[in-house]
Amino acid sequence: MPPPVFRFAPSPNGHLHLGHAYSALLNFDRARETGGRLLLRIEDIDATRCRPDYEAAIYEDLAWLGIAWERPVRRQSEHLAEYRSALEKLSVLGLVYPAFESRAEIANLVAARESNGSWPRDPDGVPLYPGDAKSLPASARWRLIDSGVPYALRLDMAAACRRVPGLTWNELGESPDGERGTVAARPEAWGDVILARKETPTSYHLSVVVDDAFQGVSEIVRGQDLFHATSVHRLLQALLDLSEPAYRHHALIRDADGRKLSKSDCSTGLRELRAGGISPAGIRMSVGLG
Ligand code: GLU
Repeated sequence: MPPPVFRFAPSPNGHLHLGHAYSALLNFDRARETGGRLLLRIEDIDATRCRPDYEAAIYEDLAWLGIAWERPVRRQSEHLAEYRSALEKLSVLGLVYPAFESRAEIANLVAARESNGSWPRDPDGVPLYPGDAKSLPASARWRLIDSGVPYALRLDMAAACRRVPGLTWNELGESPDGERGTVAARPEAWGDVILARKETPTSYHLSVVVDDAFQGVSEIVRGQDLFHATSVHRLLQALLDLSEPAYRHHALIRDADGRKLSKSDCSTGLRELRAGGISPAGIRMSVGLG
């Protein structure tokens, strides 16, 4: 049996906080306990928000915590061609369509639907895609594309679910509601998710499944805020014939008011805590890993 492979996959769009420290330390500890490998992946596909100084700070903060990871680090912005080829596979299966509405047009469509009754939201609370770009005739699509109207590529969720029904995953942690063991995937709850945008030719969901498979990740340890996204990840893995890792979703570290931590809140930032004199052992203690 090859050793298990773990990964910590932060986005360099801010400084790490106690929640990231918890996730990174859990991955590091699991890798050590199991004789496994720990990879670090920089999820920097959003060029408007990611910055090299945040990436440098991630390396510094993780090293200060005593975490060791394998080199070279995979940086998603250097692998856009791989995501493009995964997208092409889904296109060839007839599961991808261009949607031309702007964000404002989508908001207006949602408002119109909501004024006629309720409109469903995804597990993150975002309204499902309300447009009908899926049924645009090919000639109209090409006319819009040729005239340079920006578009996003969306997954035809109903067709995708019909192709690979009945997906599950092995949950070694638990959902916020205590679901564990063999969990039934419910990707349809997300509607026609975006797979790529004009300015970012991929998406979080697509890049994460391509990378986890390419890097041979066997156990994904991450926060419960991503529990429901796993349904979309399982769907994409099945459609793209990618390997299926096990998942261990962990509870989130919260602030004194019970809110999820934010990268912009200085009181829980690792840099600020460190400047205030806390030691790496103190960080471990404060996230319950002492
Ligand atoms: N890059 C994501 C984040 O910083 C984590 C992705 C994952 O663990 O799947 O929230």
